[in-house]
Amino acid sequence: LLGIESLRKSFGKVEVLKGIDMAVHKGEVVSVIGPSGSGKTTLLRCVNFLEIYERGSIRIDGQEVGYRDGDNRQRRGETDLARMRAETGMVFQSFNLFPHLTAVQNVMLGLVKVRRKPKQEAREIAEHWLKRVGLGHRIDSLPAELSGGQQQRVGIARAVAMEPKILLLDEITSALDPELVTEVLDVVRQLAEDGMTMLMVTHEIAFARDASDRIVFMDDGRVSAEGPPGELMAQAGSNERLDAFLSRFR
Ligand code: ATP
Repeated sequence: LLGIESLRKSFGKVEVLKGIDMAVHKGEVVSVIGPSGSGKTTLLRCVNFLEIYERGSIRIDGQEVGYRDGDNRQRRGETDLARMRAETGMVFQSFNLFPHLTAVQNVMLGLVKVRRKPKQEAREIAEHWLKRVGLGHRIDSLPAELSGGQQQRVGIARAVAMEPKILLLDEITSALDPELVTEVLDVVRQLAEDGMTMLMVTHEIAFARDASDRIVFMDDGRVSAEGPPGELMAQAGSNERLDAFLSRFR
C-alpha cells in the first residue's frame, strides 16, 4: 500500500533522511522507533506533504504522494492537495484541534470541506467515530473542556472519519500524562484489530511490541533494523545501536 524508496531529505546542509526504503502493506501496523533526532517525524511529514524531500519516491497504491523538490508541488491545487492528504490521515503529538470548534465540529470539518459531504451526513459520520473512540457523551465539548487523552481521541476520530488509506500516528501519546496514555493506546489497538493500516512513530516500546506486525528501527536517518517484534528484539544481539536504544526500556 505504502512504498517508500531511497527517500532523502535535508534541512540546509544537514541530511536527515539518508535513503529510506520502507513498505507498509494493507492492514499492516508498522511502528517506527529510534533515538531522538533519527528522522522519524520527518519521515511521516514527508508522507503527509508537510516537508519537501529531495530524492526518492513515496507512493500510496502506486500513486506518488508528498512534495518532491521542484517537482509536483506546482502541479497540485489546494483542493487536490487536501484530498491527497486525507488519504494519509495524520494524528499529531500536539492534537492540533481547532480550539473554537466543538469535538463534533472538529471531526466534521474535513468531511464537509474536503470530502464534500452534506452537513447532516458529516455530522452522523462524526458522531459515529466519536462514539467509537468512547466520546459519544462529549461531542459538544470544546477542546479546552476535554482532557489531553480525550482531545487526542478526537484527533484520531477526525483522521479516521476521512477514511484514509493509511493512518500516520506521530508520537501521539508523548504529550499526555501517564494515566491518560492507556485510553489512547486502547483506541489505536482497536483500530488495528479492525484492519486499519497504520504507520506509527512511538516511544511506547511495549505497545509497539504487542500491537505491531513489524517494527522499524531508525538510526541516524537510516533504517538500521526491521522485522516482526520478536525478530527485531532478537537482532539487538548483533546490532549495537539497537541494543543501546532498547536497553533504556529494559
Ligand atoms: P524525536 O524522537 O526527538 O521526535 P525524530 O527521530 O522524530 O526525533 P526528527 O524530528 O525527524 O527526529 O528530526 C530529525 C533531525 O532533523 C533533527 O536533527 C532535527 O533537529 C532536524 N530537523 C527537524 N525539523 C527541522 C527543521 N524544520 N529545520 C531544521 N532542522 C530540522
